[in-house]
Amino acid sequence: MNTNAFRLAVMPGDGIGVEVMDAALAVLDAVEKRHGLAFDRQTIPGGAHHYKETGTALDEAGFEAAAAADAVLFGAMGWPDIRYPDGTEIAPQLDLRFRMNLYAGVRPIRAIPGVPTALADPRAAGIDLVVLRESTEGLFTSRGKGVIEDDRVARDTLEITRDVTERLTRFAFRLAERRASRLGRRGTVTLVDKANVFRSFAFMRKVFYEAAAAFAEVDARHHYIDAMALDLVRRPWDFDVLPMENMFGDIMSDLGAGLIGGMGFAPSADIGDAHGLFQPSHGSAPDIAGQGKANPTAMILSLAMLLDWLGERHDSQACAEAARAVEQGVDAAFGSGEVRSYDIGGRDGTGAIARAVIGHLGA
Ligand code: ATP
Repeated sequence: MNTNAFRLAVMPGDGIGVEVMDAALAVLDAVEKRHGLAFDRQTIPGGAHHYKETGTALDEAGFEAAAAADAVLFGAMGWPDIRYPDGTEIAPQLDLRFRMNLYAGVRPIRAIPGVPTALADPRAAGIDLVVLRESTEGLFTSRGKGVIEDDRVARDTLEITRDVTERLTRFAFRLAERRASRLGRRGTVTLVDKANVFRSFAFMRKVFYEAAAAFAEVDARHHYIDAMALDLVRRPWDFDVLPMENMFGDIMSDLGAGLIGGMGFAPSADIGDAHGLFQPSHGSAPDIAGQGKANPTAMILSLAMLLDWLGERHDSQACAEAARAVEQGVDAAFGSGEVRSYDIGGRDGTGAIARAVIGHLGA
């Protein structure tokens, strides 16, 4: 089998999801030519507007096509005025996470050269950490199952399982090992929890250290979530891989994105043992949709993560090289001062940034 040919499910979704997807696919076109790769793309309709038109946010055929692909590239889904009858958001991405068992939400927080960070300290240029959000359980186990009794009490239940915690821990340590060889330093995995108050988190910590024992080359630590909120602002450059419960990861990954220029610079990957879905950390951004002002960097870096994941999974040198080229292209486009996106006070729109990245892809 030609390990440089892949089936790609493309789910643009709503709002700026569609715009940043176009930019990422233009980068992919260029990457295919330069690195001898071939992506057979299937566009899958879905999202809030699709729900409005058809009554379904993502139909069964869409789920099946996503599951059958080698990887899924996802824009953003959801729109404020379009909701399910019970008032909840249209978020098929959450269903995809549960149905495809995408337990590892990988959210890299890396300072990009030329992009201003929120911190004045010069060490902020060295921010390079990963918020690893568990994405199939925790408080989100209760999604759609919360109860309200007599209009007096509301209750949602948080669940932590041994199986998922072990998998997440192993994922975190393997990721730290790979990063350690890339960054040329010893890796550290820091579990972020609230084990001093809740049994579920004390259990999570116990299972974490049991599973961590198999990884001698990486340090295992823990940190309370409240202290982590403080330290992610005070000294984010000191952290490496940070696994945490679903809701904690939801919040901390936004805080992290705020450190490195905002949501437009924060990519993500939702990875399970059998599937991978790659999307920017941001949503459909209705306030700027349709204006060509969306920053496609998070989406383009998510594409780089997709290429990196395929490269490792299929032992494809071409994919691994393409992943590095895309990341370096982003760094060069911003680092050279050639482009500055609207979200950091510049005047370069979605297309201009994609073109600049393509221009820096190298031979
Ligand atoms: P969700 O609720 O699904 O997270 P959202 O679009 O309401 O979606 P965010 O994605 O968190 O919220 O984005 C918040 C705001 O940040 C947006 O309304 C927009 O102003 C800005 N923003 C987000 N992504 C980008 C981007 N790629 N480029 C420029 N600005 C962005």
